[in-house]
Amino acid sequence: MNKLAGIYVHIPFCIKKCPYCNFYSITDQSLKQPFIEALIQEMQMASSPSLLFDTLYFGGGTPSVLRPENIGRIIENAYGLFNISTDSEVTIEVNPGTVTSEQLPEYKNIGINRINIGAQSFNDEILDFLGRIHSSNDAELTIRGARKAGFDNIGIDLIYGIPGQTKEMWLSDLHRAVEFKPEHLSCYMLTYEKGTPLDIDRRQGKVKPVADSLSADLFETTMEYLSAHGYVQYEISNFAKNASRISRHNMKYWSFSPYLGFGPSAHSFTGHQRYWNCRSVKKYIENIKEGRLPVEEKEILSKEQRMMEMVYLGLRKTDGIDIDVIDETLGINFRQMFAEKIKQLEEDGYILPIQPKNRCALSRKGMLFLDSIAPILMIDD
Ligand code: SF4
Repeated sequence: MNKLAGIYVHIPFCIKKCPYCNFYSITDQSLKQPFIEALIQEMQMASSPSLLFDTLYFGGGTPSVLRPENIGRIIENAYGLFNISTDSEVTIEVNPGTVTSEQLPEYKNIGINRINIGAQSFNDEILDFLGRIHSSNDAELTIRGARKAGFDNIGIDLIYGIPGQTKEMWLSDLHRAVEFKPEHLSCYMLTYEKGTPLDIDRRQGKVKPVADSLSADLFETTMEYLSAHGYVQYEISNFAKNASRISRHNMKYWSFSPYLGFGPSAHSFTGHQRYWNCRSVKKYIENIKEGRLPVEEKEILSKEQRMMEMVYLGLRKTDGIDIDVIDETLGINFRQMFAEKIKQLEEDGYILPIQPKNRCALSRKGMLFLDSIAPILMIDD
């Protein structure tokens, strides 16, 4: 495989759990130091034959709960152990409730060149509903602080489709985000992940999700507003100021590129095999101390699974599935296999014309129905 690979580092600590979140993290901060030592050891134990990396991404959890010098140590080790190109994209996710104005320039000094700020909203009532530990003012200070620190690649994350949120409220959030001229915006629809406190509240009728028609309206509003303000949508939920500001790391997930994940719950993917670490900081540290990789499970992807992922992930990107690549990788003739279905989807306006680029991409209307359209273009397992 000659695709450039990515490194993901999962920092599994948060100050407080947000009720909608199902990412693995704990609020007990006492394990931070042993975790950092274990993480560096895990990197030393991993092998990455022949892989060349061009992204390093700190996600979580809340990476910004670690002091910059600790993040710096991890970066140094990564550069020492792996073949990471000098012009790599190095991102950290930052929670506005966890950074000081002094911390932001330090991130720059340790080699981070992209900062992704989890603002989520600029409306304090919404932030309260989401259980965030920061106010809209904290988010604004963090964004301004990042710019002042010299970051020229700032991403802002927003969530919409919050119960009680109107289109005007969402437009106000978009407006305030765009005022900071971020290079990147991720706008995620609130989802009710199984087992989260928010989902339990929904099941018990304490929280009522917004109507489907409003969700669709908010999604379309997002695309229209951001396009009118100079942002290019390159994935269902992601927008960039220009091609150089697309999240190079996240594109690896959607393009079926290889990546190595470190830290509890982190996933790795080699092109044929996927494996992931245990979801427990304690177990993770114990495993490493005993000289074992903390891998919980491995799976070799069957042809059908690879097809499912290539279709599903490909359709998330606005430039869609590269038919030449899917044909070559899986030894199929995609257009022939789905000729009738493609014709119908095109006629109904759910996908864009395949030619001239030989790509299968959803139209704006089709993006609303990704979950129903993707299975139409898959072979049965
Ligand atoms: S801060 Fe982020 S990772 Fe932590 S619980 Fe909230 S959403 Fe999840």
